Amino acid sequence: MTCASDTNDRLPPRPAAGGDVLAQDVKFLKGVGPARAAVLRDEAGVATFGDLLYFYPYKYIDRSVVYTVSQLQEDMPYVQLRGHILDFATEGEGRKKRLKAVFTDGTGYVELVWFAGIKYVEKTLKVNQTYLLLGKPTSFNGRFSFPHPELEVVKEGESQDRGLQSTYHLTDRMKRSGFTSKTIRELVARVFDVVKDRMAETLPPYFLAKHRLVSLPAALRQIHFPQSATVLPEAQRRLKFEELFYLQLDILRYAKDRELSRAGFLFPRVGMAFMRFYKEKLPFELTGAQKRVIKEIRKDMVSGHQMNRLLQGDVGSGKTMVAFMACLIAIDNGFQACIMAPTEILAEQHLKTVQGWLDGLDVEAALLTGNVTGARRKRVLDDLASGKIKLLVGTHALIEPTVSFLNLGLAVIDEQHRFGVRQRARLWAKNTIAPHVLVMTATPIPRTLAMTVYGDLDVSVIDELPPGRKPVKTLHYYAENHARLYDGIRHEIKAGRQVYFVFPLIEENEKSDLKNLELGYEHLLKVFPEFHIGKIHGRMKPAEKEQAMREFAANHTNILVSTTVIEVGVNVPNASVMVIEDANRFGLAQLHQLRGRVGRGAEQSYCILVTKRQLSENTRRRMAVMVETNDGFEIAEEDMRLRGPGDIEGTQQSGLPFELKIANIVKDSPLLAEAREAARELINNDPYEKLPQNDVVWTQLRRLKKQIANFSAIS
Ligand code: ADP
Ligand code: MG
Repeated sequence: MTCASDTNDRLPPRPAAGGDVLAQDVKFLKGVGPARAAVLRDEAGVATFGDLLYFYPYKYIDRSVVYTVSQLQEDMPYVQLRGHILDFATEGEGRKKRLKAVFTDGTGYVELVWFAGIKYVEKTLKVNQTYLLLGKPTSFNGRFSFPHPELEVVKEGESQDRGLQSTYHLTDRMKRSGFTSKTIRELVARVFDVVKDRMAETLPPYFLAKHRLVSLPAALRQIHFPQSATVLPEAQRRLKFEELFYLQLDILRYAKDRELSRAGFLFPRVGMAFMRFYKEKLPFELTGAQKRVIKEIRKDMVSGHQMNRLLQGDVGSGKTMVAFMACLIAIDNGFQACIMAPTEILAEQHLKTVQGWLDGLDVEAALLTGNVTGARRKRVLDDLASGKIKLLVGTHALIEPTVSFLNLGLAVIDEQHRFGVRQRARLWAKNTIAPHVLVMTATPIPRTLAMTVYGDLDVSVIDELPPGRKPVKTLHYYAENHARLYDGIRHEIKAGRQVYFVFPLIEENEKSDLKNLELGYEHLLKVFPEFHIGKIHGRMKPAEKEQAMREFAANHTNILVSTTVIEVGVNVPNASVMVIEDANRFGLAQLHQLRGRVGRGAEQSYCILVTKRQLSENTRRRMAVMVETNDGFEIAEEDMRLRGPGDIEGTQQSGLPFELKIANIVKDSPLLAEAREAARELINNDPYEKLPQNDVVWTQLRRLKKQIANFSAIS
């Protein structure tokens, strides 16, 4: 312990101000110089000696095995050969110039090729010298060729076992400036030579012991120069844990600050409306998950702090009922509530639903959308200001400045991803104290990501569907099997059911072979002359859309041809088939949303994904996932795996407070949970950031935040 704090005194952690070694400009490192330093800085974000240590390898090559030329096969990863160069030759002129060499180990010949850095290669490599070669073989005309191999002199009798060797991401510009993984390794080694292990810990000793983490110098050394495959994971764990820990610490600290500072209305009363509804009017038994979430919301409402809760629940899981009951609590306590939906159709549907539930309860609900105009609008606004309207349902028209409530206590936002954070904030101005906010989403954000990105929101999950639902059966059809598909559909419609047909485009596009909505519609009219077919798309006027939707809801049309405008929320329980044409055009989240439009009634429902036969690996995987599972969370996790976390709908802007260099919030989710616990515990034990043993932690956190601030100031 004394030893570690001792080190702290002598050498503050990376990249501290002042003249310590790690903070030195990388151009002063032997073998770098100003020109290459600029490349390192621009391309890899490496500006100092210390940054170089944090420029982590992205993979390791097992160099314990040496192959022979005769053993080479197509599609091999990086391999090692031991042999010598017989001959050099240059080909081409100017930019096309390349250097080739013939390499042999006695079992056969391969070709080595360099397109850049030719002078350097010619100067350093010699014929008849024994080299250990490392490279990725590519096969061309039956001969193997190694573009830009790494060559290393081996002496007679010297061991060839290089263990695991780190490989770094190099941009083209870095390569052109002569950087290879080998040079990076050499530079890193040089930094270690200078600083030895005199670098400060970024985590306190007690913390390292408690979470079984290796020291920072050891971890950094092993990450670049792993002694064996067994110690490497320990180094990785330490560095990942540290990243995730500081990430969580920052988020949780912010959440705590907010919790302490943001007062919220108290809704202590369980009143008439809630009780009467619960005892007499509830149309069905609540699921266990619904009950649990209502309890969680109630707890927030008596905490004295503003609720900021994200409610995640798969399509059809019954979020509306939860929202409605939360509204009743607010209303029972003398406040108004509002429910905001992303579309007019959905807002209207919500109003209809809640008005049905409110029947006989003496609670006035009203609609406010862009469609509500003139005298009608004025009356709504007046009744809202006077407090006559207790529950307002609408679209984003609700957050316009002209809309003022007497006493808004709860705002429910349905389908969160259509509302930005900034729009959410506008709700807070609707009362002297910010109203409680419940955000609902059926696009489940994977738990791991929600934890990280929405650390400031509390998350509730409805992970149970109402009983009696038959899971939707999902089938993947190739386009040539349309006839069989149409037969099935005819059968369903004759049995009284309805069908959605979704097309990804609404206009004819000559360049693509996509069947668009118009063509599809025309085609279906011919295929099903005996049925009524409606259509709905984004270019139609709102009134036309509504009309089409209403006709479908009333079962006047048997088939609804549509674009993704039906994606969100619409409820037609009698619809039992969802056909998605050119399903490859859709992402997983969208496919799952679309599928959620069926399976809402008692009948067995189907989702048919139609694609051509020729599919990319990724698309094939997406279709397989849809066929395999109905679980929105599983799909969200898979989506994130296929697309990467930065891409998840609605989260792009939120981003992470710090860049993750080694940890991955999907792959490392167990570690993330552990780091989050550690952060929570530390904050609870040291809420005022006073304990001396945590000095290191708070200093490091401030340093990280400052780096980010500096960075955003630059870019
Ligand atoms: P979502 O979570 O997708 O918004 P909804 O709130 O629209 O789901 O609910 C889907 C359907 O399930 C609605 O018709 C709703 O009335 C019904 N429902 C909700 N909760 C239950 C329950 N506990 N038991 C039976 N049906 C329920
Ligand atoms: Mg809903």
